[in-house]
Amino acid sequence: MNPLVRFEKQGNIAIVTIDNPPVNALSPGVPEGLEAAIARANADADVIAVVVIGAGRTFIAGADIKELEFAAWGQPAKLPALHDLLAHIEDSAKPVVMALHGTTLGGGLEVAMAGHYRIAAPDGVMGQPEVNLGIIPGAEGTQRLPRLVGVEKAIEMCVSGKPIPAKGALAAGLIDEIATGNLLESAVAFASHIAQSKTPLTRTRDRNDKLGTPEDSGELFSAGRALAGKLRRGAIAPLMAVAAIEAAVNFPFDEGCRRERELFAQCVASDQARALIHAFFAERGVAKVPGITKDTSVHSIAKVAIIGAGTMGGGIAMACANAGLQVLLRDSQRESLDRGMATIRKNYDVSVTRGRFTAAGVEERMQRIHPQMDYAGFEGADIIIEAAFEDMAIKKAIFAEIDAIASAGAILGTNTSTLNIDEIASVTKRPESVVGLHFFSPANVMRLVEIVRGTATANEVLATALAFAKKLNKVGVVAGNCPGFIGNRMMFPYMYEAQFVVEEGATPEQVDKALTEFGMAMGIFAVDDMAGIDVAWRVRKALGHFSEPGVRRPLVQDKLFEMDRYGQKTGRGWYTYGADRKATADPEVVALIRSMSAEAAIPQRSFTSGEIVERTVYQLINEGARILEEGYALRAADIDVIYINGYGFPARLGGPMMFADQAGLAKIAARTADFHAEFGQRWKPAPLLVRLAGEGKTFRDYDAERA
Ligand code: NAD
Repeated sequence: MNPLVRFEKQGNIAIVTIDNPPVNALSPGVPEGLEAAIARANADADVIAVVVIGAGRTFIAGADIKELEFAAWGQPAKLPALHDLLAHIEDSAKPVVMALHGTTLGGGLEVAMAGHYRIAAPDGVMGQPEVNLGIIPGAEGTQRLPRLVGVEKAIEMCVSGKPIPAKGALAAGLIDEIATGNLLESAVAFASHIAQSKTPLTRTRDRNDKLGTPEDSGELFSAGRALAGKLRRGAIAPLMAVAAIEAAVNFPFDEGCRRERELFAQCVASDQARALIHAFFAERGVAKVPGITKDTSVHSIAKVAIIGAGTMGGGIAMACANAGLQVLLRDSQRESLDRGMATIRKNYDVSVTRGRFTAAGVEERMQRIHPQMDYAGFEGADIIIEAAFEDMAIKKAIFAEIDAIASAGAILGTNTSTLNIDEIASVTKRPESVVGLHFFSPANVMRLVEIVRGTATANEVLATALAFAKKLNKVGVVAGNCPGFIGNRMMFPYMYEAQFVVEEGATPEQVDKALTEFGMAMGIFAVDDMAGIDVAWRVRKALGHFSEPGVRRPLVQDKLFEMDRYGQKTGRGWYTYGADRKATADPEVVALIRSMSAEAAIPQRSFTSGEIVERTVYQLINEGARILEEGYALRAADIDVIYINGYGFPARLGGPMMFADQAGLAKIAARTADFHAEFGQRWKPAPLLVRLAGEGKTFRDYDAERA
């Protein structure tokens, strides 16, 4: 008896239950078990129909991604070969009804589509999310899906990777019914009815009515490729998915399947699949933190108190209210508090217009946020998050105040983006309760929270902070307490280098174009304008940057600050902004750059996009290597998670450290050494980078050796 797939009978219906916790992944044993169960049902004269269902919280949620990882890295992998199984299900002489609940994704949906019928629980979702891992459906999903839902919908599902809800699946023809009561009972009743009414069985592979002809589908494929470019710029897999669906239209089923297999194999062997699979596991690995075990106690968090109702405080309040938490939102200025609440209201109203929340859902959320000018109720908060100005004196004053009123077990968090957590904690009598909670703007949208561990931060506090981030549907990554922590510390040299490149002859527009073509969500100058040139100026001042003798100092940014060109907020920064907030290159800024460079006698030259990327992105990598070696990041993979989720680094490149691995550390180290020779100290290659390059190793190897 296969322990992963159970065979039972309910009257004359065979119930085949996949029981491979937690998500019934298609691990070795599951396909074999299914195959045997279908054969057994067909051999059993009493059985008139089969229901296939998942135990626990879901139907099959997909392939075993660990096996995909092996395949992507060229190691022996047990990827299920499902062709025969799916054919046997389709060929079953007795009707096979797939009963779907939870997340029927990837290989799970591919198995489900081989059944003669599908019935789903009302809250079930179905999808082909393979593109998220840089691959395409590899078990004939690209061939059966368009046969069930039509070419256009199949393209949309495979390119976006987004699952669809049961209702949408019913409308599209992916499922035949939504269960009204208990799923198993409904499925059994459905199966009995089909068997008893002797409804002829149709194999999905034979259903060609929705496929259309190559002629009339041509436009759909061009639109699909355009959609791929729009949703996933630079990604190969969505284009491959379109090509595979094209094969479904152009060729008979078996030939289509053969093409899909070829395209799948190309995707699995691609750098992008390796990078995306790396990013997937990197995100799951961040919770592994020294000192935190299963037994570390995690405080439950129901009530949050926030200090500062500005950009960040307001966004954090929304994130907490969205997660069902009660929020006290305090500001010391009546005007700021009112403005903060008005911004929250406005942002929620936009979400209603966009269909993200219902009006009633927004009212519930607004009810959870309590604006106030004092500390009333703070004694009952499980966590207090300070999001006031980035100013050590202000933060210290606030922490002294909250130390006096917070309950004994409360966590005291600060949203500082650069300041020393230990110094902030030093004014309290409980530095063990103090932790950095570095959210990113807009905090209700951005997934990253850097959780900064001070020297005294207790393990329970860190564990609770990680659980809190998860509760907010965010990814918390632990960082050590150095100026700028991980993300911003890497950002400084990257940003300065971009300015040096501009001073040497490029334009902000050219640099941003090179970076967005590389895959960054935004160019660095556009980022600076969005975050505020005034904010960057204050940070530089607070950190005493450029005070070291002999260190080259960017010229233009400070000048822009003096000219009140703060960026988007003043309509002018590195770019000019119209009412539509679109950035336009500003000849005045380019002229300013040229004249300041001339004054400083900086030799001028032209740059290719490749050179711009090397000069900027390699700074990220070099600083990342230092942070890693100094222990401020636990793993290279953590740095990747931070950059993908907080800084718009393209997931398809896997984050800066994975990008470096795939580009080759020897190449990165050599270029860094060239720049060191040319530009001096700021390009000194990180010792870890040099060492790994010399040993022919990667950052991934470094992580693996220390795991
Ligand atoms: P902000 O200027 O928009 O808001 C700060 C708010 O704090 C203001 O409303 C102010 O009235 C209030 N405030 C100041 N002192 C206070 C006090 N003693 N008590 C109560 N309220 C007080 O600033 P922001 O952009 O939201 O930044 C807040 C913090 O978050 C800073 O430490 C900043 O470095 C950090 N941060 C900002 C960003 C960003 O992109 N804006 C990103 C990450 C972290």
